[in-house]
Amino acid sequence: MDRTVSASAGDLAFQFASDNTAGACPEALSALIDVNAGWLPSYGADELTHRVCDRLREVFERDCDVYFVFNGTAANALSLAALCRSYHSVICADCAHVETDECGAPEFFSNGTKLLRAATTQGKLSPAEVGRLVTLRSDIHYPRPRVVSVTQASELGTVYSADELTAISRAAHAAGLHLHMDGARFANAVAAGGWRPADLSWRAGVDVLCLGGTKMGLPLGEAVVFFDRELSREFAWRCKQAGQLASKMRFLAAPWLGMLEDDVWLTRADHANRMARRLAAGLTGLPGVTLHVPCEANGVFVNLPTGVANHLRAAGVHFYTFIGGAARFMCSWATEKDAVDRLVALAAGAFEPERKLR
Ligand SMILES: *Cc1c(COP(=O)(O)O)cnc(C)c1O
Repeated sequence: MDRTVSASAGDLAFQFASDNTAGACPEALSALIDVNAGWLPSYGADELTHRVCDRLREVFERDCDVYFVFNGTAANALSLAALCRSYHSVICADCAHVETDECGAPEFFSNGTKLLRAATTQGKLSPAEVGRLVTLRSDIHYPRPRVVSVTQASELGTVYSADELTAISRAAHAAGLHLHMDGARFANAVAAGGWRPADLSWRAGVDVLCLGGTKMGLPLGEAVVFFDRELSREFAWRCKQAGQLASKMRFLAAPWLGMLEDDVWLTRADHANRMARRLAAGLTGLPGVTLHVPCEANGVFVNLPTGVANHLRAAGVHFYTFIGGAARFMCSWATEKDAVDRLVALAAGAFEPERKLR
């Protein structure tokens, strides 16, 4: 048996590194191709962009304000900037993407708003921690808390229930703070609990949602959804100034149509979640492999014995170990059962006796 071939990752190399290593969903791509023909008004003044906004209003059962931007960093940074003045602060998880992975963009676009890092349990904020940070200081020397930001699904792949969000929004609103949601994986969270999109957003008190498109299967693009329309005043200017207003807006908008049709976005997200559960079950069936946090959406966070981690890396499998040391494997709309099983088999190879002798 050729060990070199059997222990090589091949197409698994980048499959589980992130949910943005996958291509675009066929539904998103065909909507993109369909919108190519002919001439349409630019900068979002076209019929198709209006249709996508209306479709999102239907999906969310609410007359919300919708903007399309190129990526999640822009969606988060610009929406937080819209909610804050320079002397304000944003309460977020210590592991929040806005804090750890956006190169200071929220602080930059808000001209100095400070992020206050909250302690988390399994990646999630609690109302008690929000309360603690809100009441910690009220003097003029401390940046004034103005927003609570939650990530759904969380950076650790856990999901806030509608009740958990409602409790957080009550604590936030009672103190005069807005609730912002980084929904890079909102689709996975909705699919995970069979909720209605409204249940995990405005009905639970979310004021602004950055609705992830890229990771759920668009070629690119995120939507910023303001449920409180007062908060979106002049947001269009903010987007334009930040270089986030697409002139051929139809291409940013169209893929959403393909995904929102017949709930494709939720079906695809549900598939990603299922693949993650399959992977979690497979990996935890191996000696010494345990779940770091429960697998609730499309991410699997496991404590991997060093031997297994090294074995996978040596075979060429890319994965992150950035939060709490656990290994992170992400599934997407494109992940296939067979790939999951092959990854588990590859990991199991770490325990083969001939391998240990090497
Ligand atoms: C991927 C991701 C984003 C968006 O990142 P961009 O690279 O800026 O598109 C935002 N928040 C979270 C939690 C993410 O995982």
